[in-house]
Amino acid sequence: MPETEKVHCLIIGSGPAGYTAAIYAARANLKPVLYQGLQPGGQLTITTEVENYPGYPEGIMGPQMMVDFEKQASRMGADIRWGLATKVDFRERPYKVEIDEEKTIEADSIIIATGASAKWLNIESEQRLNGHGVSACAVCDGFFFKGQEVAIVGAGDTACEEALYLSKLCSNVHMLVRRGEMRASKIMQDRVLNTPNIKVYWHTETDEILGDKKVEGMRVKNVNSGETQEIPVKAFFVAIGHDPNSGIFKGWLDMDEQGYLVTVPGTTKTNIPGVFAAGDVQDKIYRQAVSAAGSGCMAALDAERYLGEMGLH
Ligand code: NDP
Repeated sequence: MPETEKVHCLIIGSGPAGYTAAIYAARANLKPVLYQGLQPGGQLTITTEVENYPGYPEGIMGPQMMVDFEKQASRMGADIRWGLATKVDFRERPYKVEIDEEKTIEADSIIIATGASAKWLNIESEQRLNGHGVSACAVCDGFFFKGQEVAIVGAGDTACEEALYLSKLCSNVHMLVRRGEMRASKIMQDRVLNTPNIKVYWHTETDEILGDKKVEGMRVKNVNSGETQEIPVKAFFVAIGHDPNSGIFKGWLDMDEQGYLVTVPGTTKTNIPGVFAAGDVQDKIYRQAVSAAGSGCMAALDAERYLGEMGLH
């Protein structure tokens, strides 16, 4: 017989949203159990310095920040565990969540904070130089390249928004677009095309990011002519979209066409009472540590209120 355990409040995911939910839920005596997932600490563990999270006047390394979040949640009494949620059954309360395909947790309330994962080009140099000039977050890392030449790949709203952000900090932004048009909204495209220090390279793919220990440049290829050229840049930003980590909730929870969980505006409520969603798995626009943490707080308060209303707390 597979092992089954009953909990009051289950939190799935260990980024800023999950840990903040854990801190609030523990302090409200909901006795939260948090499963960390495949990448304990989430996306911040693959960044370097974080300078835009309030309360760290000198900045902090992303991985260290997540260690601090975890420590704080543990100190408040949250039960933090290794393990990956592999299947859910939300037919009736208590809701069932399978962990690592072996154990079943039955939960009165659930906070989903499974985040999203940046898509990458999947070329060798991108992985090797990740954190050394290669980044998937211009808002996080653009500042380190003030006054320098940088590149960005992508042609959606995120790439346009990030190119515009970088254009205010950096001397020149080289924007690589693989087709002859952009996917971004017209207004964002217009802004990009009217910004003098953004140069758009149409029909252009990345052959290689150059540099040994840090980014020194890139070799790009025009897909029509086959012509390649090397362009010196100090940073290479990848903005080709994110995948929300919501696969196991398909068929149970409402999601948009890209798989982001849909919540009732102004709350963290999903379409299943007692199941809440916080952080990047339900936010494709802001995607910041501080906004994820804020929604984690909201989810814990929503869960507390729900459990109270159901007479379970
Ligand atoms: P999108 O999926 O909209 O765009 C991804 C872009 O990356 C596309 O232009 C795509 O090119 C390109 N791309 C994908 N793979 C590669 C590759 N291997 N090499 C080169 N280019 C590649 O993602 P976004 O993150 O931009 O946006 C996600 C959603 O969030 C969208 O609905 C967007 O509108 C929304 N959003 C809204 C904002 C706002 O309202 N302020 C801000 C940010 C996002 P191609 O077009 O050729 O497929």
